[in-house]
Amino acid sequence: MAQDLAQEAKQKNIRYFLISFVDLFGVLRAKLVPARAISQMQEEGAGFAGFAAWLDMTPAHPDMFALPDPESLTQLPWKPEVAWLASDLHMNGAPVEASPRVALRRQIARAEKLGYRMKSGVECEYFLIQPDGAAISDSRDTQEKPCYDQSALMRRFDVVSQICDAMIQLNWGPYQNDHEDANGQFEMNWDYDDCLRTADRHAFFKYMTRQIAEDHGLRATFMPKPFSHLTGNGCHAHVSLWDQSGAKNLFEDETGRDELGLSKLAYEFLGGVIHNVEALASFFNPTVNSYKRINAPRTLSGATWSPNAVSYSGNNRTHMIRVPDRGRFELRLMDGAANPYLLQAGILAAGLDGIANKRDPGKRLDTNMYAPGAKTRGLKKLPLNLLDAIRKTEKSRALKEALGAELVESYCKLKRNEWDDYARAISRWEVEHTLDC
Ligand SMILES: [Mg+2]
Repeated sequence: MAQDLAQEAKQKNIRYFLISFVDLFGVLRAKLVPARAISQMQEEGAGFAGFAAWLDMTPAHPDMFALPDPESLTQLPWKPEVAWLASDLHMNGAPVEASPRVALRRQIARAEKLGYRMKSGVECEYFLIQPDGAAISDSRDTQEKPCYDQSALMRRFDVVSQICDAMIQLNWGPYQNDHEDANGQFEMNWDYDDCLRTADRHAFFKYMTRQIAEDHGLRATFMPKPFSHLTGNGCHAHVSLWDQSGAKNLFEDETGRDELGLSKLAYEFLGGVIHNVEALASFFNPTVNSYKRINAPRTLSGATWSPNAVSYSGNNRTHMIRVPDRGRFELRLMDGAANPYLLQAGILAAGLDGIANKRDPGKRLDTNMYAPGAKTRGLKKLPLNLLDAIRKTEKSRALKEALGAELVESYCKLKRNEWDDYARAISRWEVEHTLDC
């Protein structure tokens, strides 16, 4: 039986609940509900006007209701009188198919029917910058190779440790924090889990990190490429498929014959990701700015750490997919703007397509893809910009079948509008290069 939220409020001294949802553009939206009203909200959901968020709705649509998932209950560690709840959108008594958390639930249900359960972990990189966004916040963080810089990390100890302590308190199992490859950039890692739980935590982590940074007079950004000369914000995912009980990793090779320690099922799943990845790029790299991170020239540190072609490898970070260890792979394409739910839904949908069609990922490559003139002949390229990516998504029958035409069409429609808006804006670059034409 689902937890009784009114009871939880009494036991945990919760005065307010944030009933929240993530829209198609990844924006976290919420209503702040006093504990006295939570029983009714748990039953009927919190009401929203869908058109007011990034969802494919008009002002004439009826009320949309966000039904909170009690499993996701998260007391804000820095304000325990408030608890956060992820929710599923409903309208006219039915789930809103073109909404991210519902889309992920659909994929989980499809996997469950086949006896699978996807577990995953995400690595959310972020920058700590000045509140006005103009520059990184630490003027002494200037090393050419700043990755793992102990001094720069410790100058931000107050922020990083507060976020890490919060994750400890929430039982997420955080295990390491570091300064990343760009000046001003950090990464914090916590345990992998069922993909829905990871998606909820991903959404909450972004909120929490922004909030705690703000409380320290800073700003956290997950923008894919905030500074053109520095490494961008990736959001790599580590993925494995388990049996229904969650006890057996089905990606683990049992024959002892596979060099990377992956099972046949894992290769089929991987084959599905490789087959569908161009069409998924608009989900994994959802903004105009995303395409300045992938396919990018070398950064100040010497490497972008992001992929430039569709390839997979063993423990080699220059490829789109890395197999760092037995029984899992790391997909390195996604960036900080990726929608936490569509990220997981996209991977699972592609993987299930790979299993259903026994897709072959081809041969693994062991080359250094960042070396000048690296061999990319025969490899599929990643879309060069958001419009390219949207077109690939629109054309993908496999994605429409897996994720549902409603979701794919709504998403592409809104993203096209966004692209058109961007294309109409006149940039500083254009003025600099064209004013005297
Ligand atoms: Mg990283």
